[in-house]
Amino acid sequence: MADTLGRPLHDLRISVTDRCNFRCGYCMPKEVFDKQHAFLPHAELLSFEEITRLASVFVACGVEKLRITGGEPTLRRGLETLIAMLAALRTPDGREMDLTLTTNGSTLVKKAAALKAAGLRRLTVSLDGLDDAVFQRMNDVGFPVADVLAGIQAAQAAGLAPIKVNMVVQRGVNDDQILPMARHFRGSGVVLRFIEYMDVGATNGWRMDQVLPSAEVLRRLQAEFPLTPLSQSAPGETAERWAYSDGGGEVGFISSVTQAFCGDCNRARLSTEGRLYTCLFATRGHDLRALLRGAAPASDAELAGAIAGVWQGRSDRYSQLRGSGQATPAGERRVEMHYIGG
Ligand code: SAM
Ligand code: SF4
Ligand code: SF4
Repeated sequence: MADTLGRPLHDLRISVTDRCNFRCGYCMPKEVFDKQHAFLPHAELLSFEEITRLASVFVACGVEKLRITGGEPTLRRGLETLIAMLAALRTPDGREMDLTLTTNGSTLVKKAAALKAAGLRRLTVSLDGLDDAVFQRMNDVGFPVADVLAGIQAAQAAGLAPIKVNMVVQRGVNDDQILPMARHFRGSGVVLRFIEYMDVGATNGWRMDQVLPSAEVLRRLQAEFPLTPLSQSAPGETAERWAYSDGGGEVGFISSVTQAFCGDCNRARLSTEGRLYTCLFATRGHDLRALLRGAAPASDAELAGAIAGVWQGRSDRYSQLRGSGQATPAGERRVEMHYIGG
């Protein structure tokens, strides 16, 4: 099943909560997501049964990789139960799913072993610096870096592998953390990935001058460590990979701003309340929950037909159009990232 630009549907990112215990300024700035902010009531969220049913239909439509995200997904009560339900899904030819999770790491000390036991194989932890003052300023709730590092260790000890660490780089905010982060994770088996600060949503006050291009991050790394480019590991892979030439592992660069990778973008996103989004920068989603909860609930075949209709009509390529003035339709507002996950 391909979209209008010939891109297959391969990945599904599932947001399981719009809530978070952090207030990263680039995602959920404190001034906007304050005590007055109305998060979704529980009844609006897809239940685990609804998520699993939709995921199984997506799998029948070609999806082979599932990523659980949010908000902070580990805040969703009973997440292990959902992991176990999703881990039981199989591709039409009987293969296991590639099932993973993106987390801020704050709960891993407590939860890593249970997530692994439920069937999670690997995970991605977001961490924007090693200096406690810088990190606490970025998460904006005073969360200590030591607790995230302990969470990463707990995940390694639980056998979750490989573990990736995502660092959003903001010029003048945490770019002094690039080298300390590289030194820390080099040789640890953890793959550090640098993400360009993106203009997601409508609340983070994004400015181009705060984007540190990946080429500059690479240049700074190369001043200390010889690096060799690696080939893409899978079609649609977002990260450009480089290896430490001395065998110290690899790093990745996710360069949505300076090197758009829309050309082979094969990712769909299911929001917390069951809307299907076909781009991280979309303004509108398609309400799949209405099909599940309608007076005459849709059959799997009808759900598959709806998903296929949306995907086959897809023409999104926001990052390629960014700056052209046509990337977002006039008068429309981009969906916030914590509804649809990263
Ligand atoms: N709370 C979890 C976490 O932080 O890992 C999962 C959800 S979070 C929205 C997913 C990813 O999006 C994180 O790695 C985060 O750093 C990234 N992200 C959020 N806002 C971003 C932005 N403006 N630019 C680049 N990456 C962003
Ligand atoms: Fe929360 Fe993740 Fe967004 Fe930070 S990036 S505010 S941890 S959802
Ligand atoms: Fe995919 Fe949209 Fe990102 Fe392009 S901008 S890579 S279409 S999610």
